[in-house]
Amino acid sequence: MSIIDSALKANRNYAKRYDPKLGRPPAPKIAVVTCMDPRLSNLPEILGLPQADIDVIRTGGPAVTEDVLGELVVSTRVLGTTEIMLLNHTGCGFTTFTDDELNVKLAAVTGDVSPAPMRFFSFKDPEKNTREQINIVRSHPWIAKDVPVRGFVFDMETGLLSEVEPVREQTAA
Ligand SMILES: [Zn+2]
Repeated sequence: MSIIDSALKANRNYAKRYDPKLGRPPAPKIAVVTCMDPRLSNLPEILGLPQADIDVIRTGGPAVTEDVLGELVVSTRVLGTTEIMLLNHTGCGFTTFTDDELNVKLAAVTGDVSPAPMRFFSFKDPEKNTREQINIVRSHPWIAKDVPVRGFVFDMETGLLSEVEPVREQTAA
């Protein structure tokens, strides 16, 4: 049985004990942008927050793309979250290649160059990545200035979060 088929079967049982109250509109309090890495799936435990409080926005890396910015705008302006957390981590799969390398490799493996250059948002340094993300989110005109935007690196070896200090914007002399 495929994994999806087995998931469908399990869902039949899940629905039997489903709480219909969960059908009500959610009231999330915080938006967390994090990586698609499965080790970051248990955010309620990692952050000690109820699942219902967290809008989880996940991309590889994570990457703060135009889509992610749109989701953060909706999360804070429409859904009611009041804080933004950018959660990177050590040992990310997106640090194991560069966009150029993967484009070349996939074009060769598939014999089809037409999707290149695809943007995979690979990176090398999670702290630097986090700092860039804070700048991108903080400087978006539709993210309200009173919404805190804080960035962290989750250490896969210890389970601890370290805060990444944003770079102060240079003021023109
Ligand atoms: Zn990752």
